[in-house]
Amino acid sequence: MRKVLLLGSTGSIGTSALKVARDIPERMQIVGLAANSSVEALVAQVRETGVKQVALTDPAAAAKARALLPADVVLHTGAQGLVDLVLQSDANMVLVAIVGTAGLAPALAAIEAGKHLAVASKEILVMAGEAVTEAAKRKGVNILPVDSEHNAIFQCLEGHRHSDVQRILLTASGGPFRTLPAEQLPHVTLAQALKHPTWTMGRKITIDSATLFNKGLEMIEAKWLFDVPMDKIEVVVHPQSIVHSMVEFADNSVIAQLSHSDMCFPIQYAVTWPDRVPNNLKRLNFAQVSALHFEAPRIADFPALNLARHAGTIGGTLPAVLNAANEVAVEAFLNGKIAFPGIWQTVERVMNAHQVIAHPNLETLIEADAWARSKASEWVRNAD
Ligand code: NDP
Repeated sequence: MRKVLLLGSTGSIGTSALKVARDIPERMQIVGLAANSSVEALVAQVRETGVKQVALTDPAAAAKARALLPADVVLHTGAQGLVDLVLQSDANMVLVAIVGTAGLAPALAAIEAGKHLAVASKEILVMAGEAVTEAAKRKGVNILPVDSEHNAIFQCLEGHRHSDVQRILLTASGGPFRTLPAEQLPHVTLAQALKHPTWTMGRKITIDSATLFNKGLEMIEAKWLFDVPMDKIEVVVHPQSIVHSMVEFADNSVIAQLSHSDMCFPIQYAVTWPDRVPNNLKRLNFAQVSALHFEAPRIADFPALNLARHAGTIGGTLPAVLNAANEVAVEAFLNGKIAFPGIWQTVERVMNAHQVIAHPNLETLIEADAWARSKASEWVRNAD
């Protein structure tokens, strides 16, 4: 039985994780919940799960929730509230599904407390992959990938030698603009960018999927999770989102993992690993899956992939800078302040202006993150 503390419970991954817990109650018990400011949703989740420990990062939301929560529920607040929740919870696994990097401190606290991690928040591995994976190794804590691609790669690698891995093939849906001519990209609307062809997800990752920064972040995430150099990681566009990723081995054989595009699959496997447990998820019917299509990504039209490859290859503080600048730029695009290509233009300018520091400690990474946010905000303001 996994006792799971769910950080980011009110989001897209969070609600899928609750669905998994309902589906396999004999294997997964939710013992704590955390969100930022979604009071009503969190209170409803507390009623459903009966948890006694929760956190709301936003203090005003926490004050509102206090009046609605049963008296015996402990409510933590502020950024430190997430860490306190981790430390006080009797969870043996923490599922980090907070958008952005706010999940980093609680993830590190979980590792130090010897709790296994299931990670959806790719941003924390992009920013601090070295610190997170080293700490996990030192404490003997598992990091189970929830991102569907990494969960697929994790499954493909099982039973194989690391030295036999020739290529990691990350599949990408290509997003809503896969076939849009490059000259139309400056004119796409927010509504078009938020219309993902195969996945229903939170707003940030949906925009990241449209720019292909999501795949770029995933390349860096894969480097840390699977200890492979960037030049062994490739992206293959696969619009059906049925093959979730593949691994090519030394004998040129390729192993792939397939399922319907439903995040309950990777969440369940992260929770039940190494066991496979029956569930109510939809099975693939190959008579209906008429075609699996693959193509090369449009690297010249979507610069995010090369920016991420460069950041992952150089390493040091550069991936943290790419990630932070991207977060600011996506927020600006969501708020109508910059056009779609302004996202990668902002990231590129901030990366070019950065003096990379090799082998940064956590403090240096946090400083680089803050520097990149302020630089990106400056450029975004000037774009008005
Ligand atoms: P959503 O935007 O749907 O949800 C984000 C969640 O994080 C909400 O519960 C939100 O709370 C919470 N949150 C945001 N900021 C804070 C904070 N400062 N402190 C505490 N909680 C916070 O995002 P997704 O579920 O789509 O994505 C979550 C993560 O998972 C991202 O890193 C994404 O890249 C990754 N991921 C998502 C996939 C998907 O299918 N959605 C697939 C693979 C990875 P509130 O509701 O109060 O704002």
